[in-house]
Amino acid sequence: MKQIILATKNKNKLVEVKAVLGNDYEVLSMEDIGIDVDVEENGTTFEENATIKAEAICKICGKPVMADDSGLEIDYLDKKPGVLSARFLGHDTSYDIKNAKILEMLEDVPEEKRTARFVCSIAVAFPDRDTVVVRDTIEGIIGYESAGENGFGYDPIFYVPELKKTTAQLSMEEKNKISHRGKALVKMANRLKDMNLWDCWL
Ligand code: IMP
Repeated sequence: MKQIILATKNKNKLVEVKAVLGNDYEVLSMEDIGIDVDVEENGTTFEENATIKAEAICKICGKPVMADDSGLEIDYLDKKPGVLSARFLGHDTSYDIKNAKILEMLEDVPEEKRTARFVCSIAVAFPDRDTVVVRDTIEGIIGYESAGENGFGYDPIFYVPELKKTTAQLSMEEKNKISHRGKALVKMANRLKDMNLWDCWL
């Protein structure tokens, strides 16, 4: 089976990626191949950050590497926290605190102004050809309170009106079908197939 290295230390992401791509690819973590480096995400867009990570790890291991960068854009906050989603209020601050702060910042803001989206850019870097990058999103609104136990990060406050649920109230399978990352992953898998790259796969 074709191997792909996922450039993340986030176990939740590894599980999500395996659930979507696991039938077609052997998805390995950096830990699986014995690489432990932190790549500085100093880009200003999700695309830039995904590309920086994928290309840096690809240079080290010489294999095709997939990296993603994702985050939450809240329109009322000028699309913040955006690329700084993980660092909002400090990297080690719990999501209970981050989510409570966002709910406070949006207190009394009416529903029509609470629009938000999760964005995911995925890059696959190759040892011997140009990096491929895709992006997808899921639209929703910031709820009025946290709800749900599944998922991670900002899921408890991200409400999807059509489903009348937050993404933390969806099962992993339900979320993967409609999420920014799930849709971007399918897009990436199709892009790679279309480009007929498999002859160069290591
Ligand atoms: P990074 O992509 O690892 O840099 O982190 C993205 C940030 O956005 C993290 O703080 C995540 O919690 C948040 N984020 C990205 N995707 C999701 C999601 O599906 N649910 C909840 N939070 C997410």
